[in-house]
Amino acid sequence: MSEHVHVRINQGLGVTENGELVEHSYCRCGATWTKTYRIREEGPE
Ligand SMILES: [Zn+2]
Repeated sequence: MSEHVHVRINQGLGVTENGELVEHSYCRCGATWTKTYRIREEGPE
């Protein structure tokens, strides 16, 4: 097996029902990733 370095290509952003930011990315080999960012909105400090 040859080593393969994934190249993450951004596929777009989305927002879940919980208000979290979701980032989709993929590689030409077919691998996919999903990053979820929590957006806190607790108001000013
Ligand atoms: Zn890959």
